[in-house]
Amino acid sequence: MDAIEELHANRDLPDARLREIIEGDVCEPELFAKAAEVCGGYYGKDIYVRGLIEFTNYCKNNCYYCGIRRDNHNLERYRLGQDEILACCAEGYELGYRTFVLQGGEDAAVTDAMVCALVAEIKKLYPDCAVTLSLGERPRASYSAFRDAGADRYLLRHETANAAHYRALHPESMRLENRKRCLWDLKEIGYQVGSGFMVGSPYQTTECLIEDLRFLQDLQPDMIGVGPYIPHRDTPFRDHPGGDLRVCLRIIAILRLLFPSALIPATTALGTVDARGRELGIGAGANVIMPNLSPVHVRKHYALYDNKICVSEGAAECRACLESRVVPMGYRIVTDIGNRVHSPNS
Ligand code: SAH
Repeated sequence: MDAIEELHANRDLPDARLREIIEGDVCEPELFAKAAEVCGGYYGKDIYVRGLIEFTNYCKNNCYYCGIRRDNHNLERYRLGQDEILACCAEGYELGYRTFVLQGGEDAAVTDAMVCALVAEIKKLYPDCAVTLSLGERPRASYSAFRDAGADRYLLRHETANAAHYRALHPESMRLENRKRCLWDLKEIGYQVGSGFMVGSPYQTTECLIEDLRFLQDLQPDMIGVGPYIPHRDTPFRDHPGGDLRVCLRIIAILRLLFPSALIPATTALGTVDARGRELGIGAGANVIMPNLSPVHVRKHYALYDNKICVSEGAAECRACLESRVVPMGYRIVTDIGNRVHSPNS
């Protein structure tokens, strides 16, 4: 059996064969077609959308790759108030979005009480919607409080499962064990959990990527987000090359075959490295898109990396643009809360 067949049949693969696929030693069209077919078995031609509200770019962390890191003083900082965030939700609801993702840097001024009040208000106004949080590492008690307030899902990429690689990407104050602890806490508390990593981050090797996949097999997350690393001019990693689109697509396809029913986004980073990156992601097994729902005047300040797309269009334009991208591929954007489907639809 070739590596693709074996991966599909077993939903698993030994390291040496994963390496073959990651490094491109297989027929890519066959890999992508198999992944898209497996995705279709669960989700048909439906593409789920999540309205992404980037509500603060203050961050106390100093990750070497990230443009909103604490020591980037060339960045105009902003924090949206509850009313502005609710206005984004109202606009998103009109456009058919039934999941709101509240993402931000690790902003100490955003207290647990503020998050709880916001989540409760969104759930009260839109009981048919899911609220996803992506606020980084917090104590377990905070995660519990957010969940009690009504939060449904939490996104926290592990970034890399290899301790030495983690150390190369983050300052001493950040700990891989703590990040993993957060993920296990979130799962235990009852969130639908999303994790993931960048592809092609500085010092990443194929072994690191295999470790990432093994960690995810252990964690069994509901959502898995991956995107290429893209340099930001005001970070210590400014001179490191960006991640490779093809490797990223192969990783998406592998993820789909390892985790057939997972929710896998075609990320904004993928759309940034290639004008058709998100379409290619869907063609390789992704089934979620996360359009930007932040107010246009703050979008360019949520600069995780250079040349981020969709920073000048309004929410309605983004919605129309997505439609025009997926419909010709035979997919449809659905107005649906977009929960994970646990068994095949046929
Ligand atoms: N503070 C939150 C949100 C972080 S931003 C948290 O810790 O989860 C969301 C994701 O953007 C990160 O998890 C990281 O994987 C990605 N990211 C950050 N900088 C990037 C870069 N330069 N290129 C590509 N992706 C990046």
